[in-house]
Amino acid sequence: MKNATYDVVVIGAGPVGENVADRVVQGGLTAAIIERELVGGECSYWACMPTKALLRSATALRAARQLPGAREAVTGDLDVAAVLRRRDSFASQWKDDGQVSWLGTAGIALYRGQGRIRSERVIEVTGEDGAPVSLTARHAVVVATGSSALVPDVPGLRQAAPWTSREAAAAGKVPGRLAIIGGGVVASEMATAFANLGSLVTVLARDGVLPRAEPFAGERVMNSWQEAGVSVRLGAVAASVNRDVDGTVHVTLADGEHLEADELLVAIGRMPNTQDIGLDTVGLKPGGWLTVDGTLRVTGEDGSLAGGGWLYAAGDINHRALLTHQGKYQARAVGDVIVARARGETVDDGRWGRHAVTADERAVPQVVFTDPEVASVGLTAAAAEAAGLRLRVVDYDLAAVAGSALYADGYQGHARMVVDEDRRVIVGFTIVGPDVAELLHAATIAVVGEIPLDRLWHAVPAFPTVSEIWLRLLEVYGR
Ligand SMILES: Cc1cc2nc3c(=O)[nH]c(=O)nc-3n(C[C@H](O)[C@H](O)[C@H](O)COP(=O)(O)OP(=O)(O)OC[C@H]3O[C@@H](n4cnc5c(N)ncnc54)[C@H](O)[C@@H]3O)c2cc1C
Repeated sequence: MKNATYDVVVIGAGPVGENVADRVVQGGLTAAIIERELVGGECSYWACMPTKALLRSATALRAARQLPGAREAVTGDLDVAAVLRRRDSFASQWKDDGQVSWLGTAGIALYRGQGRIRSERVIEVTGEDGAPVSLTARHAVVVATGSSALVPDVPGLRQAAPWTSREAAAAGKVPGRLAIIGGGVVASEMATAFANLGSLVTVLARDGVLPRAEPFAGERVMNSWQEAGVSVRLGAVAASVNRDVDGTVHVTLADGEHLEADELLVAIGRMPNTQDIGLDTVGLKPGGWLTVDGTLRVTGEDGSLAGGGWLYAAGDINHRALLTHQGKYQARAVGDVIVARARGETVDDGRWGRHAVTADERAVPQVVFTDPEVASVGLTAAAAEAAGLRLRVVDYDLAAVAGSALYADGYQGHARMVVDEDRRVIVGFTIVGPDVAELLHAATIAVVGEIPLDRLWHAVPAFPTVSEIWLRLLEVYGR
């Protein structure tokens, strides 16, 4: 068997694994990365990038149609083929040459195949030719194997070959009728995208639409779906599924109702890619999410360090925040702490320390690219209350801001800030409206910086921008 030794071995070359490897190389260590599919992972080819490309053109068209003068210049409908072509280019035609060549310039060695932990700091890679390679890590192994779509055990569902987010993101055709099981972020973005592209969409939202967001977010998204002809069955549970020889999918709901569709998308959540990575070697059960300590070292059920402290887990796999930007934040912390430990330097893992991932706990930003967009950071009012905070919730109609009225005729939106009254700082912020995604970072800075509201008052938003929502919220708070 071929052997090689590196300072750090990373399993999984998604956005998180790539960033871990880059960071340790920049810190002066050597690194190898193992990938069984495409370098770039889910985000590049089947998740963040292609799905946002599917959504973007319709959002721009809607924006133009909301403005007299621009509206008259729009003479046709969405060009679906052009949208799909642009999506293909954002998925790099599902080829990873660009990212492979970046690995080369970054000084990271790539091994293609399935990586499995075989013994202490030793990973075996089995490629397509079946000949294994053994990689030894001097300092650390990082698991960054990500997650896959979860398909529930509904009778007939698997046999009906439903779409998961992968097939939807890479779809070559737009189905006439699309049924979606799920009401979370992926389901909501896909419902919006395919309705825009011309599908008749039905959403089966057992737990509601965007159930983890502030309640007004799901309500606003559902209102816009009503105009777009998307029908929503709140509380609906798929009891059985069957696909005809002609391809039609039949879904029977628990209440006996029967639905037909040309495609069925399952978007109910994710499962960890840990089934076959050799976790048993370090005393862990395959198939579960990995638990980690403050510097993302993998821990066992009793809290002890798995393998003795050389095994780390970053990104989706540790289930802290299943988002690319948050995984990359973890990657920077993990890369730096591995370098610090290798050099015998002090580890800075206190709250907000360089090697800690404090923002994962209460300051995770997220944008749901529905139309209207939902942008949020930190805690919802319900989560802050459950955390036992003494809080004040301030709401404001986004349409009442001069910048919004100028931005588009008929602008509709809403914003909420959640204030921890004991510290007089913002712990949560949610804004819903057209194109509000770019407003989010101001809120993230306020939450992470724990900026006292008396000081935030002096951050004056420019007139007439939608950002004046900050002034309005603070005025209401000060009354
Ligand atoms: C439809 C959809 C849309 C999304 N949109 C967004 C968005 O807009 N913004 C955002 O921030 N997040 C978004 N996400 C989430 C985002 O895709 C993930 O959080 C991100 O991809 C996680 O990165 P990762 O590197 O941890 O894992 P992944 O991207 O899953 O990469 C893991 C890599 O490891 C490889 N691998 C797994 N096991 C092995 C093994 N044993 N050996 C070798 N290689 C292995 C896999 O092939 C894969 O390439 C979206 C997710 C979905 C499903």
